[in-house]
Amino acid sequence: MTKIRTRFAPSPTGYMHIGNLRTALFEYLIAKHEDGDFILRIEDTDQERFVEGAVDIIYDTLKSVGLHHDEGPDVGGDFGPYIQSERLPMYKEYADRLVELGGAHYCFCKEEDIEKQRKEAESLGISFKYDDPCKHISKEEAKQRIENESYVVRQTIQHGGETYFDDEVYGRIEVDNNVLDEAILMKSDGYPTYNFANIVDDHQMNITHVVRGNEYLSSTPKYNLIYKSFGWDIPTYVHVPPVMKDEQHKLSKRNGDASFQDLVKKGYLPEAILNYIALLGWSPETEQEIYTLEELIKVFDIKRISKSPAIFDIDKLTWMNGMYLRAMDIQKFYELAKPYMEESIHRPVDFMAVAKILQPRTDVLASIPESVDFIDELPEYDNALYIHKKMKTTYEIALKALQATQTALTELQDWTSEETLHDVLLGLPKQLEMKNGQILWPVRTAITGKQFTPGGAIEIAHILGKDETLKRIAVGIEKLQKELETA
Ligand code: GLU
Repeated sequence: MTKIRTRFAPSPTGYMHIGNLRTALFEYLIAKHEDGDFILRIEDTDQERFVEGAVDIIYDTLKSVGLHHDEGPDVGGDFGPYIQSERLPMYKEYADRLVELGGAHYCFCKEEDIEKQRKEAESLGISFKYDDPCKHISKEEAKQRIENESYVVRQTIQHGGETYFDDEVYGRIEVDNNVLDEAILMKSDGYPTYNFANIVDDHQMNITHVVRGNEYLSSTPKYNLIYKSFGWDIPTYVHVPPVMKDEQHKLSKRNGDASFQDLVKKGYLPEAILNYIALLGWSPETEQEIYTLEELIKVFDIKRISKSPAIFDIDKLTWMNGMYLRAMDIQKFYELAKPYMEESIHRPVDFMAVAKILQPRTDVLASIPESVDFIDELPEYDNALYIHKKMKTTYEIALKALQATQTALTELQDWTSEETLHDVLLGLPKQLEMKNGQILWPVRTAITGKQFTPGGAIEIAHILGKDETLKRIAVGIEKLQKELETA
């Protein structure tokens, strides 16, 4: 049996679109499920779109999500070079051969003239297909002219007949050859277009499965005609559905949030992103949603790739990210959370203790600075925060709770463990004939000034330390006294 070989063939655009990363993942899984090879090829023939550092973004992304390629520009392999701009002489050779075989011809038409015709057709509302007169020039004449004139190599499509192929996801696709346009294969600057380089490379690199976005579905018959002219085997095609922002809009750079780097910046974990995108347009047989890469390799099945567009649901990713954060050991969480804690905490508190209260309640790391900002400074808050209907806390009860806490905590000498704090605070409800919540709610309110906080009164008091805790309780007492006086 032939070894499965898939390739990820990104154009270096300067960012990793989530849809592209999803394609890379599917390519990786298809190969690895069968113990095959996953190849990285850089498609940089569009020199106008060259972006400095863009290739590094591709390497870094693949590395950070653990999609290791077996061959590629940085790791080598038997089928290199793996960067298209380094393969130019080979494309030229194949293009000339294709002309000999009748699958293409040299074209001397001026781009402006073609553009004019296109515009005219557009203004009349007719769909435009260039009927290239150059395909009727004799081979001898054309060969002479290419010596002195600027030219492109254009695909020759014989009129009549149909071309079909079977896509693994979309099934049989059939097109009338008359609708296929005679695309440029080699530009006048000697660079191939995607239409050509892709075919030559996939063949040269023994790619068995071509996995790519379904926007290429309608051009694939055209590519197959080239394979046929050369007498090459046509690869297995796996066209995948697009990743959408919503029913109508594709996830695009312009809409924001489309790139892997943006998501990482927002505090999503590479492993959670990878897990989430595996489920975009693919579904496992079971209800399981959390997968390691190893598990995905085992269960991945091309047959379960869907034809329907996949909608990128940021809430679902957020949920999944939270699952990953909670599952990791506290030391790792601490290390990841540290820079975010440092953004808003500048007091010498025990960051590990803060990490411990954050871990069970954090879905994205980027939410951390805001959720622990009260540690540095008690915010201005409204007294209404003291009122909790269910716990029956009124201003009077809150004041009583804070005063009793103030006395008890002032006497407490040992602040080093949460346990002593716990014993003192939970001793109060009995003494005062109050419910636990009637003590803890006002205390937490007084020391944080916020309605929602990670951690409860005891954990937070422990983190803040004795002086700060008592200072904030005193502020609370004063606020409540004023409130009651004016009532
Ligand atoms: N360079 C193409 C792109 O980035 C690759 C498409 C393919 O995988 O064939 O869209």
